[in-house]
Amino acid sequence: EVIKEERLAYLIEEKRIKAVTLVFSDLEGRLHMLDYDKKFFVKSYDNLTFDGSSIRGFTAQKESDLRLGIDWTAFYWVPADVFGPGKVLVFAEVIDKNGDFYIGDLRGVLKNFAKEQFEKNGYTLNAANEIEGFLFDGVEAERTFHETGVFEYVNKGGYYHSLPGDPLREFIDTCSEIQRAMGFENEKDHPEVAPSQFEINYTYGDVVTAADQIQLYKLICRQVATQMGMTASFLPKPVTGVNGSGMHTNVSITKNGKNLFYDAKGQETTSKLGWTFIDRILTHGNDICLLLNASVNSYRRLDPHFEAPNQIKASATDRGSMVRIPIGNEKSARVEVRSVGPDANPYMVLYTVFKTGLDGEISKMKNLRQAERYLPDNIYTALEDFRSATWTTALLGEDVKARYADLKQASADRCPRLLGTVVKACEVQFH
Ligand code: GLN
Ligand code: MG
Ligand code: MG
Ligand code: MG
Repeated sequence: EVIKEERLAYLIEEKRIKAVTLVFSDLEGRLHMLDYDKKFFVKSYDNLTFDGSSIRGFTAQKESDLRLGIDWTAFYWVPADVFGPGKVLVFAEVIDKNGDFYIGDLRGVLKNFAKEQFEKNGYTLNAANEIEGFLFDGVEAERTFHETGVFEYVNKGGYYHSLPGDPLREFIDTCSEIQRAMGFENEKDHPEVAPSQFEINYTYGDVVTAADQIQLYKLICRQVATQMGMTASFLPKPVTGVNGSGMHTNVSITKNGKNLFYDAKGQETTSKLGWTFIDRILTHGNDICLLLNASVNSYRRLDPHFEAPNQIKASATDRGSMVRIPIGNEKSARVEVRSVGPDANPYMVLYTVFKTGLDGEISKMKNLRQAERYLPDNIYTALEDFRSATWTTALLGEDVKARYADLKQASADRCPRLLGTVVKACEVQFH
């Protein structure tokens, strides 16, 4: 309430602010945005309705009226040179007609989960995501791929290459600067392994903030790339034969500042809680694969030859395993889930990882952490695993599970079952 009053007062007093951009995400994680004139917004912010039936994965037509609530804690100033003058950006929560968080909005689902079960009892669920992407030449590279069948690199660089005067370096610098201005605590940024590939790291946050920041990161990258006449692409594997793009998801739980995944004497300095968390993720590795690898193209990426996992196991060193335990100290100890694509819905990803890690089942199988088990290598198998799993029903409920499966089935059906070795236009999606 205090935050709300402060921010409302700021909006009213700050003459340079002309409009408020509200953002929310659909079931597949596409970011939606709309601008309200500031004067209208300050009068009407508690009564903003919209037609949910026009958003993919949201309500059926007969029950289409939804409301947008304001998350006053997720309030960002946006730099004028990139987003236009005089705006602030606020995350909206989608509210149903009973006044509850709407079930198709995973941000609300994640927030509820984190708050009711953990934050109330003093626990914080933390996440840090390493979001990789490609910078391609041309503002419409993903769209024109449908005609040309190629993505044009902007350089030939590689991991940590120094690239003075290079468009990739200029792009990374500009994105980093905007992130800092918007309150991200940046850590490092660099050209990644593949040519024209980048990664910009910033510090961890509570799960809802972390997921919001993924959405903002991608928005910023896209906006900056467009201004440079280029495209920032978060396709997991736009070019075969080189590394794809991952969104490694590093997670931990803290209570009163103490990292509960750390134990100096534990195996890999990981606590019992940490290992149980890992075992639950591994047990449900197949079940949840479609939630973490959400597109046809994602399955090309899961190849250990390119540092992306296809094995359902845990390792401190092997980058081909679904879960890695990075070397850490008390502060940085965490579990890294590597089998996540940057085009997955970030709220879905964090909800799935935490809910599975904390409430999932543990397989009785001996050797679970080292067993030879594999993630699906195509979306059809992932869909079957997802549909047949009882865990995914427990996770999402029948209704959302079915809607999600239908959307993914539709994207799978647009592609031939045997895709071949080069990326096809049918798998190039825009989120
Ligand atoms: N690009 C790899 C992946 O797809 C990760 C490589 C790295 O971060 N060094 O997960
Ligand atoms: Mg990294
Ligand atoms: Mg990386
Ligand atoms: Mg990593």
